[in-house]
Amino acid sequence: MLRKLAIALAALVAVAALAFLWLYHEVTTLEYERVTDDVHVVQAGGINGNVAVLRTAEGAVIVDTMTFRAQGARVRELAERLAGGPVQAVLNTHYHMDHTHGNPGFPAGTRIVSTQRTRGYMLEFDGGYWSGANAETLPNETFDAEHDLHIGGKTIRALHLGRGHTGGDLVVLFVEDRVLHLGDLLVSGRYPNVDLEAGGSIEAWIATLDRALALDFDRAIPGHGPVTDREGVRAFQAFLREVWELAKQAAAEGLSLEQTRELARRTLKSDAGFAVVGIPLYLRIDRDFVVGRAFEEATGAVRPRGEGGSPGS
Ligand SMILES: [Zn+2]
Repeated sequence: MLRKLAIALAALVAVAALAFLWLYHEVTTLEYERVTDDVHVVQAGGINGNVAVLRTAEGAVIVDTMTFRAQGARVRELAERLAGGPVQAVLNTHYHMDHTHGNPGFPAGTRIVSTQRTRGYMLEFDGGYWSGANAETLPNETFDAEHDLHIGGKTIRALHLGRGHTGGDLVVLFVEDRVLHLGDLLVSGRYPNVDLEAGGSIEAWIATLDRALALDFDRAIPGHGPVTDREGVRAFQAFLREVWELAKQAAAEGLSLEQTRELARRTLKSDAGFAVVGIPLYLRIDRDFVVGRAFEEATGAVRPRGEGGSPGS
């Protein structure tokens, strides 16, 4: 009896160990793809945000760091290999964990750039994570509107173009390579998250993308999904516009949320083929979700925080 129990226990431990190894492998296995001679995009499974790596004469510049410390460390190793030199700077497009929680995989003292607002959101909404040793890899170089880095013969232009996915998103233009990383202001082939509680706004997002389209770039790296181009940005913007028009109409006519979702099911066209993004038991980002957020914004049920707004509203 005892022997059977011991065998069952050993089997259980083995299965748990295998599951852990599999998960660790999934999380830390990175894939990368060339965008231009000096720009690569790095991706991992799951909900991880797309990372961009720029090669400069002095080493690597990285945009976003994925979800786990171990991933950040892997991203750093890979970036140093791709760039043939040390990491010179990291930029965080916005505060969400799938773009920032890899920061602690970088040494304390690494140059880390974000908007002032993003740093504020990290402390306000995610202060538990950004305490203790992790606080050493919070952004240590912040700005409000525009900030250029000149590293190894390259110009890295970080710009806050207005509200959208959150209230603090930056985009990164690799000037010489004509590549724009838009963070989650652009997702390709899937439904977007809209963080109204952290200053996001579907209405403002449309104009923010107009300002992005006014920049000089050819290739567009989204926060999630495959690399695209200006056409991809316009197509995504068209979806936001369609959802926003529908939500405004619903608000004006006094429709209920359910009626609005029903209307969306019948009339929305620009989201054909969009994938649903799921985080089990936590979040399901599909058409109903985005329409729901637009409805909340259009009816004023959730008021996005203003550009200069105070936290907590
Ligand atoms: Zn995000």
